[in-house]
Amino acid sequence: MRKKSRPSPRITRKQGLDLLRNADLLGIGMMADDVRKKLHPAGKVSFIIDRNINYTNVCINKCTFCAFYREKDDPEAYVLSRRNLFHKIRETIEQGGTQILIQGGLHPDLDLAYYVDLLKAIKNRFNIHVHGFSPPEICYMADGAGLTLKKTIQVLMEAGLDSIPGGGAEILSDRVREQISPKKIGTTRWLNVMEEAHKLGMKTTATMMFGSIEGLEDIIEHLEAIRRLQDRTNGFTAFIPWSFQPGNTELGEKSEAAGKDKKKFDINPATAVDYLRVLALSRVYLDNVPNIQASWVTQGLKMAQVALRFGANDFGSTMLEENVVAAAGVKYRVSIQDILHAISSAGFKPVQRDMYYNGINEKFTIPDIK
Ligand code: SF4
Repeated sequence: MRKKSRPSPRITRKQGLDLLRNADLLGIGMMADDVRKKLHPAGKVSFIIDRNINYTNVCINKCTFCAFYREKDDPEAYVLSRRNLFHKIRETIEQGGTQILIQGGLHPDLDLAYYVDLLKAIKNRFNIHVHGFSPPEICYMADGAGLTLKKTIQVLMEAGLDSIPGGGAEILSDRVREQISPKKIGTTRWLNVMEEAHKLGMKTTATMMFGSIEGLEDIIEHLEAIRRLQDRTNGFTAFIPWSFQPGNTELGEKSEAAGKDKKKFDINPATAVDYLRVLALSRVYLDNVPNIQASWVTQGLKMAQVALRFGANDFGSTMLEENVVAAAGVKYRVSIQDILHAISSAGFKPVQRDMYYNGINEKFTIPDIK
């Protein structure tokens, strides 16, 4: 699906910052659209049919921006039973799904053996791609087992892990991470997990959550870190920028409570314009990352459609289930038909893909939604 030419010349950090600060919205959008056209000249927009499965919501990290986690003794705390998990996977396959995205909190009672058993149990029963366990989970497993990151990833791969999602990146700037998620792994470890996975031949994605307390420089720092690692490994299949959803989060509440005196929790929730600007810059800056995903989960279907002219070439997942963003009170529900219609009415041909962005189905009847 992707043409291998790289847009040139590569923009510098300084130029990136200048674009974020000063470029007019349509100008930066047109730049990103040009890059998208060069990399994906066939006018196709991909999506994947899959389901987000969160095996537990118990987490010791307690990130201030997270509305999903619960304490172990909270009445809403859970660890998904195998029966329930298998039911969800069966349903996904019945609906044409080819992948599950499985991730969860850092549960103090779950060790590496639990994850190995879980992966083997899934792979013994189902022919499905397992995109699972973001870098904070991998580090937690490695630390608990006293193993290196490389060995931990090898063990998980042997048990059936196919690829790693880019969750837990938020902003790859330790200045920001120390404030919004002080217990979470830092920038270097997040990058180390991805580098080790790439060296082992495993593909991963990269994400960025913006619109909390970061500045524009932090966004550039994040993009630069991803671009540098990708230059070395070429292991990222896609980049997914999405905006912080403050509802039901400690960070959102603290910022609101601090009112005019807010300093530490001075959040700047991203507007639609901010989203498009950051998305477009991501497309232009990450000249070595083949795919940029629109986030209908946080932006809604209509904004995701607009995103296709601001650098995005992928609509992400159909998300037959999503819990993390929903916990923050943002619940955009769409069907596969909605996605097909949104892509085609924006002037593109929808293509169902796998995690590696190989097209697996283009023959759809496009619904006429009024
Ligand atoms: S964002 Fe992830 S690591 Fe942080 S509290 Fe939520 S589940 Fe835990």
